[in-house]
Amino acid sequence: MGTGIGGAFVERGQIMLGSHNEAGHIGHMVCTDAVGVPCSCGATGHLEPIAAGPGIIERYIELGGDATLEDGTPIDGAEIDRRAARSDKNAIAAEARSGHAIGEVLGSVCNMLDPDCVILSGSVAQCGDAWRYAMQRGWHEAVMMPVSDTPIVSGELGGNAPLIGAAENAVNSAYAELS
Ligand SMILES: [Zn+2]
Repeated sequence: MGTGIGGAFVERGQIMLGSHNEAGHIGHMVCTDAVGVPCSCGATGHLEPIAAGPGIIERYIELGGDATLEDGTPIDGAEIDRRAARSDKNAIAAEARSGHAIGEVLGSVCNMLDPDCVILSGSVAQCGDAWRYAMQRGWHEAVMMPVSDTPIVSGELGGNAPLIGAAENAVNSAYAELS
């Protein structure tokens, strides 16, 4: 979860690819906070445009937040997170919309798949309390009781996670072709 929102499902050590190799597009699931919002994929109502980094920045500016730093450079997501930590109401509201929507979608995903755990990574997942509390609220609103104790943990690979995963997948595919 950063400039976009992606996902993957791992079953017994294997990534589930789906019949079009498109499984895991969590960012393109419908959520209640995004009704009517156009998405880059051409559909409307998807998670990504309201919950990824650019959506947080856009919302912050829409609410009247100051779009630039003192030296005039445009703000980024990390700056909005710092402002949220300093109780900037617009920053808190922008992060809360993202967190709530992500929590809601994760609740839906867990209702369907009942995974052992959910691993979050990327810059958005590193947002502070305003984002995290909203995420937990969205999660509890959406998730069914029997799966509501599914652990939601932070990834340990940081910003390199997509590259490491892609490299591992390429190596595994190459070995599979040899054997
Ligand atoms: Zn979409």
